[in-house]
Amino acid sequence: MNRRSFLKLAPLPCLGAESDAPFIVEAQFYEKLPYKKIKCKLCPRECVIDDRERGYCGVRENRGGVYYTLVHSRVCTFHVDPIEKKPFFHFLPGTLAYSLATAGCNVNCKMCQNWEISQVRPEQVRNIYLPPRKLAALAKQEDCASIAYTYSEPVIFFEYMLDAADAGHAAGVKSAVVTGGYIQEEPLKKLCPRVDAIKVDLKAFSQKFYTEVVNGELKPVLNALVTLRKLGMWTEIVYLVVPTLNDSDQEFKGLARWVKSELGLDVPLHFSRFHPMYLLKNLPPTPLETLERAKAAADAEGLRYVYIGNVPGHPAEKTYCPKCRRVVVDRVGFSVESNHLRKGKCRFCQQAIAGVWGT
Ligand code: SF4
Repeated sequence: MNRRSFLKLAPLPCLGAESDAPFIVEAQFYEKLPYKKIKCKLCPRECVIDDRERGYCGVRENRGGVYYTLVHSRVCTFHVDPIEKKPFFHFLPGTLAYSLATAGCNVNCKMCQNWEISQVRPEQVRNIYLPPRKLAALAKQEDCASIAYTYSEPVIFFEYMLDAADAGHAAGVKSAVVTGGYIQEEPLKKLCPRVDAIKVDLKAFSQKFYTEVVNGELKPVLNALVTLRKLGMWTEIVYLVVPTLNDSDQEFKGLARWVKSELGLDVPLHFSRFHPMYLLKNLPPTPLETLERAKAAADAEGLRYVYIGNVPGHPAEKTYCPKCRRVVVDRVGFSVESNHLRKGKCRFCQQAIAGVWGT
């Protein structure tokens, strides 16, 4: 039995001492089928699930023809992080984000940094019960400007994310989503009015990579990005550059052209350094020259905010005004050293800088 077959089985009575009762809420976006089967319509996988079985993500279960999420308020990891660590560079810079995850994911990336929580069922990790209002109060208490849904894949804890975002807003805390963008259009449309920023990990610009490394599909992710733009959601894109697998000039140029034509010039695009991880320990870290080549391709298309990530101290961590070229947000690693934006405009030449600045 492979890992995914295991995740899809409902647990045997002998497994897991933890009662799941507080975490079970009826799922959204599913269709009832004959013989108590259901079809999940949350992500493009559209799992068809028999009674007492789970979807691919391992956190949604069919019980008698009704589909449930098993991870509402079931948090397996949480930290207070700088928002720059997500990374968001054009969303409330220099603030803290109360960052959390549940177990589970709807893809299986061979380079996953958090596979110990993303590739398991909720019963296989330690969890705490963190209902939305308590989460919002904790975020406030920790002086966080936002709650960040991150580390694993927030699409699979969709119902919790919506409720947490509402509770956050009621307490004056925004919400930022860090996702692979593998979600259907209807749930995405429901999510957008409830959150404030979305960062999409675009894993590659080829279906080959999505097939061989992600176990997913590229097209739905591109569609999600276009939907985000149409809805006016603040969006940033991160592209983890994996040596030999998604680092060709052709791919970088194709990506940059697509972003320019479909999303416009103002979407921040972060090229991030890969480190050997999980099932790709055989590859080296991304050479700096490759990251700079990726950035050059995007700069050549005229994208205004192109960054290099996971290389602390690199000049491409800073935000430059596209008009006067002065540094408007000076960053080193996850730390903001100075911010020269005033009401979203460059202090030196008054050029508007796209983003959600809060100053
Ligand atoms: S969210 Fe989970 S259950 Fe639903 S289609 Fe995606 S992987 Fe399958």
